[in-house]
Amino acid sequence: MVIEYSGIVIRSVLTDKREKYYDGKGIGCYMFRMDDFDVVDATMHGNAARFINHSCEPNCFSRVIHVEGQKHIVIFALRRILRGEELTYDYKFPIEDASNKLPCNCGAKRCRRFLN
Ligand SMILES: [Zn+2]
Repeated sequence: MVIEYSGIVIRSVLTDKREKYYDGKGIGCYMFRMDDFDVVDATMHGNAARFINHSCEPNCFSRVIHVEGQKHIVIFALRRILRGEELTYDYKFPIEDASNKLPCNCGAKRCRRFLN
C-alpha cells in the first residue's frame, strides 16, 4: 500500500454540479470515481494522492477496498519503486468518442495517446 486517495465521498449525481462550482471559482478539481454510485472529491479535503499522475505504463494501481463497511480508494505499488521515482497509476477513464478525447502526455513507450 502506498497511500489512500482520501477526500469527501459524494454521490455520483453531484459531480457535475461540483465541477461547475470549482471551475467558476478557478479551483482545480480532483475527483476519483469509486463505482456507479460514489465519487471521492479530493478538491478541498484531499491528501497528496490527488497529485499522482496518470501513466499508460504505471508503477502503481488503484483499488476500491472495503474496511468495516466503508469503501476506500487505495493506491498500491505494482513493482519495487525507487526513491525519487514519480508515482503513477492508470486512471482507466471510460472510452469516449473523438470529440471528448483527452490527450495523454505520459511519455511511456506504449502510451495509448488518450486518457479516455
Ligand atoms: Zn500515456
